[in-house]
Amino acid sequence: SGANLDDHVSGRVRVAVRLRPQNAEELVADADFADCVELQPELKRLKLRKNSWDSDTYEFDEVLTEFASQKRVYEVVAKPVVESVLDGYNGTVMAYGQTGTGKTFTLGRLGDEDTSARGIMVRAMEDILANISQGSDSVIISYLQIYMETIQDLLNPENDNISIVEDPRTGDVSVPSATMVDIRNHKDFMELLRLGEAHRVATNTKLNTESSRSHAILMVHIKRSVAEMESDIASESDHSSHMGNTLKPPIIRKGKLVVVDLAGSERIHKSGSEGHTLEEAKSINLSLSALGKCINALAENSTHVPVRDSKLTRLLKDSFGGELRDGCHITFGMIVYCFTTLFAGTARTSLIITIGPSPRHRAETASTILFGQRAM
Ligand code: ADP
Ligand code: MG
Repeated sequence: SGANLDDHVSGRVRVAVRLRPQNAEELVADADFADCVELQPELKRLKLRKNSWDSDTYEFDEVLTEFASQKRVYEVVAKPVVESVLDGYNGTVMAYGQTGTGKTFTLGRLGDEDTSARGIMVRAMEDILANISQGSDSVIISYLQIYMETIQDLLNPENDNISIVEDPRTGDVSVPSATMVDIRNHKDFMELLRLGEAHRVATNTKLNTESSRSHAILMVHIKRSVAEMESDIASESDHSSHMGNTLKPPIIRKGKLVVVDLAGSERIHKSGSEGHTLEEAKSINLSLSALGKCINALAENSTHVPVRDSKLTRLLKDSFGGELRDGCHITFGMIVYCFTTLFAGTARTSLIITIGPSPRHRAETASTILFGQRAM
């Protein structure tokens, strides 16, 4: 019952599913039961068991088994987005799924001891740093958390109520009060990720909550100067220069990469009885369903993307659809974007949904799969 693959080659959202291997506890507890999912990676298909004789089949842009390496996951999920960002577009990589299915493993793993374990954030930064020139270019990061519709700075916990500012002319969003750190090398970045993670743990301890109840958002702002010769657009539109390429002013390309480790999707269904938990569940529900609506709108190429409903979607507004804005400014970049998307399949928003194999969590897994299918 999945969508036909040809139908979404031109889609704006690329959706991959990743299955976590059975853990030690599941190895024992589920020993007598069949897994609830079966993957057919070559066919890019996933089968979700309905009962012992029947299953539903879904297609994704990419199906990553429990044996998929972190390197492969990066290459299929994030690398195309990183390449677009280096070309001056905005792009987003998001992980959605039940707590414990591997969102943080996929995105945030540092892998200091074992580089093959490195997750998407670290690999993306390696690619970015390898493509910028020291001196003229810049890479600036901020690292935020959204908890109960409040934006907190993971690089400075005292900064715990950050507001989103929108440029009325361009529609670009920014968080000017967030800590912005200039990254010069890999070591700087690893230190900041470690610091952000430590602050995330500390903040959550203080608020008496868990990291699975907040969204963690890494923003990477890239500014590159690119020699004009590299740019097709410029060489076609500029007939004035006969001075030789070396004298032409470089083109500045600004791109923004946003990596989002979403709150556990199970919170949508769990409404706790105590005030605190119920409020948390409500706000997670609000932001994840707002996100769902936005990516459905993107998938359907709708001109109206309802970004206003949550802080998360407001923050992502200028990132997940490239130039697509709810005010709908048609820019040259947008035309180029539509062209490249339709004809080259360039992905600028990538969603990875993470699932576990246990039949005990079949209902959660089914709901995660549905979220992924709606995005395509
Ligand atoms: P989430 O962030 O979705 O709550 P985690 O990333 O914390 O989940 O993963 C939960 C546990 O499962 C961790 O111990 C993690 O190391 C392990 N895990 C997740 N995905 C994989 C994987 N693909 N291979 C091996 N272990 C994994
Ligand atoms: Mg996590």
